[in-house]
Amino acid sequence: MPRIQHLTLAIVFAALPTIALAWNAQGHQEVGAVADRLIAGSHAEQWVKYLLGKQTLQTVSVWADCARGVKSIDGKPPAYQDNPQYAECAPFSGAEGAKRFESFALRNWKQCGSAHGADFCHTHYHYTDISNLHDHYQAGYVGANNEDVVHAINAAIAVLRGQAAPAPFDFADKQEALMLLAHYVGDIHQPLHVAALYLDADGKVVDPDIVGYKIGDDTAGGNNIIDGNKPFHAEWDAPPSTPHTFDDQVAVLLKAAKQVKPTGGDLAGWSTAWANDSIQVSPPVFAGLRFTMKPAASAHPENFPEKWEATGIDADYQSRADAIKMQQLAKAGARLAQLLEAIWPDDQALPPAPK
Ligand SMILES: [Zn+2]
Repeated sequence: MPRIQHLTLAIVFAALPTIALAWNAQGHQEVGAVADRLIAGSHAEQWVKYLLGKQTLQTVSVWADCARGVKSIDGKPPAYQDNPQYAECAPFSGAEGAKRFESFALRNWKQCGSAHGADFCHTHYHYTDISNLHDHYQAGYVGANNEDVVHAINAAIAVLRGQAAPAPFDFADKQEALMLLAHYVGDIHQPLHVAALYLDADGKVVDPDIVGYKIGDDTAGGNNIIDGNKPFHAEWDAPPSTPHTFDDQVAVLLKAAKQVKPTGGDLAGWSTAWANDSIQVSPPVFAGLRFTMKPAASAHPENFPEKWEATGIDADYQSRADAIKMQQLAKAGARLAQLLEAIWPDDQALPPAPK
């Protein structure tokens, strides 16, 4: 739920008791699990263990989404609200875990300005919104900005390499940067976290870099497009429907991940290359769909100015989607591992003795 606005959160929670997080928890944990297996035996594995202690890339892959549990209720100071519905956040519960979430969220709270309404800065770090009519990510395009997922990945890499994160990012230390990186690398491979539909009032796809950006054309990464009672974005956050179990999916993903070619070039360009790739795999995400404008249903039309109903999501679409999801999850796991091995190559120092 990366772009759902703060004011409408309560309404949305009421309407959607099982609201999906970006690649929901299972997808992110699969990305982490694949990377955990791929780095086994490397110096990168030793560094991950040193920084994460008992946790693994699999378990910390959801930490950035769990941090959304830091909220200000009834004007009280923002605090982490444990939500038993999100079992994946349980490893970080308790007073110390809550303090860590609150510290991160408050360091990354308001400095992004008023873009995306009252949404909090750290919630912007999960996505970028490049028109699907483009074939690549570019600074200056509508939807690209300094707090998007392309920049968030680079900020986390900087901290892991001992440099400061550029503004607006405020990451406390290498442990936090690694937890965030394990999440953002998953997000940038979810096509709807990168390629966005902008729709005019007739449901026609428009390019905001040509017609000009209008809030009414912004589908918020597909969150304002509804399929039945489900946001289109959530359709793509859901894990593939087959194989059925977590372990079976990880086994298939691991096999595919071993075939993923290295990104190449300087690390600083990898997140842009991955964003480009997500845009380039996205045409089937939108192909064959039609969109009909619905009047604003929310009590806060300033946040949800319009909604669109999608048609064309049938069994064939779902099976094509499953294949794309598997491919993207495998790439994410492979690239997370490749990135960590590039940050901590085998010919460089091991970490100090484990914490
Ligand atoms: Zn996310």
